[in-house]
Amino acid sequence: MADGTHIFADAPLDGLVACPECDALYRAAEVPPGSRAVCARCHTVLISPRRHAGMAIISLALASIVLVAGALWFPFLRIDTRGLWQQATLWDVATSFPVGPLLIVSVAVTAAIVVLPIVRAALILYTLVPVVFDRPARPLAARAFALSESLRPWSMAEVFAIGCAVSLVKIADLATLSLGPAFFMFAALVVVTVIQDQLVCRWSVWRSISPV
Ligand SMILES: [Zn+2]
Repeated sequence: MADGTHIFADAPLDGLVACPECDALYRAAEVPPGSRAVCARCHTVLISPRRHAGMAIISLALASIVLVAGALWFPFLRIDTRGLWQQATLWDVATSFPVGPLLIVSVAVTAAIVVLPIVRAALILYTLVPVVFDRPARPLAARAFALSESLRPWSMAEVFAIGCAVSLVKIADLATLSLGPAFFMFAALVVVTVIQDQLVCRWSVWRSISPV
């Protein structure tokens, strides 16, 4: 066990916490900010409170909304070959198949890389802004946070980024590629999303929005 890492003891403490990976049930302990409580069986992090994490998470959620909006607006990719060129925005990429059976692909891609990141950021803001500013939690905060958590696996910005990288390698020999501002904004969105998910201590959020 590394320094600053706590494994739960069977102490008479209020509340229980279940490991999301192996379903082991523990009595929750007070974990000091900066330390972590991990599952004794599978070492999944259960509680990891950090000082000032709330404001950082809010900032990152706002940043992700701005990055998605920018990625939709600015050029994503430009392809030049034999004097011809084609430029596309992220919106063009996501809605490549406006009709026909492949429409479902466009809908799924748009949802996974555009709609879900914005919805998740909005739900996080709805949940955390009152808590961080010492206001009473919103009436639907628990539902909003639960929905945000359930949408997490479906927000696939990073999968799209990897797909883009593979595609670019494939067509790099056929044409001259220029990456637009939207590509880098999208790459930044992936990093921001990962950092935000790492900062969120789900136990702390649930406790802060639960009625006392
Ligand atoms: Zn576990």
